[in-house]
Amino acid sequence: MTTTVIGFPRIGEKRELKFAIEKYFKYKINQDELTQTARKLRKNNWQLLYQAGIDEIPSNDFSYYDQVLDTAFLFNLVPENVQKLQLSDLDKYFTLARGYQGKQGNILAWPMKKWFNTNYHYLVPQLDQKTHFKVTGTKIFNEFNEAKKLGITTRPVLIGPFTLLKLSEYHNSEASDFIDEAISAYQEVFTKLTASGAYWIQLDEPSLVKDLSSSDYQLFIQLYKPLLAAKGGLKVLLQTYFGDVRDIYYDLIQLPFDGLGLDFVEGKETLNLVANSFPNDKILFAGVVNGKNIWKNNYEKTLAKLHKANVENLVINTSCSLLHVPITLEHERFSSDIKAHLAFAKEKLGELEDLDNIYEKQDQKKLAINQELFFRPRVKRDSKLHAQIANLKADDFVRQPVRSAREIIQKEEFKLPLLPTTTIGSFPQTKEIRNIRKQFRRHEIDQEQYNNFIKNKIDKALKWQENIGLDVLVHGEFERNDMVEYFGQHLSGYIFSKKGWVQSYGTRCVKPPIIWGDVKRIHPITIEWSKYAQSQTKKLVKGMLTGPVTILNWSFPREDISLRESTLQLALAIQREVLDLEANGIKIIQIDEAALREKLPLRKSDWYSEYLNWAIPAFRLVHSKVKPQTQIHTHMCYSEFTDIIPAIDAMDADVISFEASRSNLKILDSLKKQHFETEVGPGVYDIHSPRIPSISEVKATINQILRKIDSSKIWVNPDCGLKTRGVKETKASLINVIEATREVRQQLKEGN
Ligand code: GLN
Ligand code: ZN
Repeated sequence: MTTTVIGFPRIGEKRELKFAIEKYFKYKINQDELTQTARKLRKNNWQLLYQAGIDEIPSNDFSYYDQVLDTAFLFNLVPENVQKLQLSDLDKYFTLARGYQGKQGNILAWPMKKWFNTNYHYLVPQLDQKTHFKVTGTKIFNEFNEAKKLGITTRPVLIGPFTLLKLSEYHNSEASDFIDEAISAYQEVFTKLTASGAYWIQLDEPSLVKDLSSSDYQLFIQLYKPLLAAKGGLKVLLQTYFGDVRDIYYDLIQLPFDGLGLDFVEGKETLNLVANSFPNDKILFAGVVNGKNIWKNNYEKTLAKLHKANVENLVINTSCSLLHVPITLEHERFSSDIKAHLAFAKEKLGELEDLDNIYEKQDQKKLAINQELFFRPRVKRDSKLHAQIANLKADDFVRQPVRSAREIIQKEEFKLPLLPTTTIGSFPQTKEIRNIRKQFRRHEIDQEQYNNFIKNKIDKALKWQENIGLDVLVHGEFERNDMVEYFGQHLSGYIFSKKGWVQSYGTRCVKPPIIWGDVKRIHPITIEWSKYAQSQTKKLVKGMLTGPVTILNWSFPREDISLRESTLQLALAIQREVLDLEANGIKIIQIDEAALREKLPLRKSDWYSEYLNWAIPAFRLVHSKVKPQTQIHTHMCYSEFTDIIPAIDAMDADVISFEASRSNLKILDSLKKQHFETEVGPGVYDIHSPRIPSISEVKATINQILRKIDSSKIWVNPDCGLKTRGVKETKASLINVIEATREVRQQLKEGN
């Protein structure tokens, strides 16, 4: 039997790629130096896979920023204004990722969206009538040749045409306009790869695991029939992941694909479909090693699946690209008991090998060692906590009085101006701040020195916010490394990796903590800092918490209890924090649910039953017991919740802020149509790019919002936290936001 992976993390064990790209952005290294680093990382990965005994090794899974953006460059989907820039190809590429502001004009970045149900983000190609598919990029060919020179014939990986067209956004055009051009372009890639000596191509089509409409189905067939007819000698692997392909399975097994890659982990129906029928002329790439979790594979269960599948031509695969897990356990300092249960990307390669050996060569010893791990419960159960959750009543999930009554009470209480201004929580995390936290962690400075430093930062941030005239202030989150890890560190049941970085978008990586056991708050978490900040100003300072669903979604969750149970444990912990903040005089409390949308099942039919039915109540549990005067805010990243607006309203927060600027405020129409009740702060500028919005730009945005939402319900804020931004651009941007708001207020006054 053969082993392979769908893709491997590209950021580097020490995040070398991240640092190199960031240096490049700051003109500290040149393009040559950056390409050298990239080349070295690719070489390392290929050799690593080779040495781990992986039989079929992918290429083109590397990316400087994002694989969808790579595909757009391969196929000439770059808008004219970017093409025209007097910049190198690489800089044009980064322009679409980050925007451009300079001598040659002002160009916005492409919007960014979550990659299916993961915390990875891709750039959304914008296609219009001027777009023409043509093979103009060379990356996929270059990387194939690069590996070949090292003696490794790889399987190039490319986003398939169906998923590419499904993920793109259209302006005065639609997906079907591009079918013919796309087919020829993909065919040209086939021809070129074949000429370079490739045997296989992997076309990633994760969009197939979603509910397919009849036009989706048509689109897929229209694309693939001609494409496959022209594959020549090249073997085509259709790779899916993040679910099963039940809507189109029986077509897939009849079409002339050479390999089908299916997900046996998240795909609920995959095993049944395959066991029912799988053709002998195809190879099944069975995704049995979970590409998203960090737990050891249960070999016995996996082997049972493989035996039940009972397929002649089998390749053992990961369930999705290993991009979504940290690279290795090698540098981690977990105890051996803990390590025994974990597997990161490198370790998963070993699992593929083990499974191969057990399946083929009946390696009973390997199997026995693995069975031993799953023989008894991994952790001790907190039966009191489990009972507390079992005894929760309906009332525990409902805040009184209803929101409309609270709105009146709170307006009276706070007397904020129309269009109150605020920020999402964090202020720039400068090198200085990160250094101080590091020194404190390493005991190079003591608690008092550290506290003084943070206090000083808070003082300055408050002063500055007061000076520019923000209405509701924040303390700045200087004490936090990360909005989830920070909370995890104060909860029992959590463990933390040292180097377990996972790419989130571009050069941004996150280090998700691991939920190891039952979760409880050990001691108050944010109270002291919030109290301090509020004591330093007469203005309102928001308390700042991360919500239970986001903590769960940005952690690696347990698999021995349900996600619902874990989330409720977290909700009870954060509830105590909310009540403590309130008791300490904090009147506005923001509970971030940045990642709520992230784990929404990919199939609509599962949205409520498998997720929202417990996720939304878990959020309500956190704030259901506060006083009517206390204002609860929440924040969500990305406004892609048009289709779950009633669920968002049912979180029963008083105010919600969210990203809207990169997606053109499209969500506002839906909010209006669906009579959204929560007060809203649709982000008025994009913080994911260093661009400074002008006053007139922000004014235009606020006016656009005013056309859709009643002015009494609008807040003005950036679209996310500012921790990743520089100080200078942050200040300039916020000053413009305040000025724009003032002018709009004036304009409203005059209009009345
Ligand atoms: N309060 C957090 C911050 O400002 C929210 C971050 C987020 O939404 N990702 O950093
Ligand atoms: Zn956000």
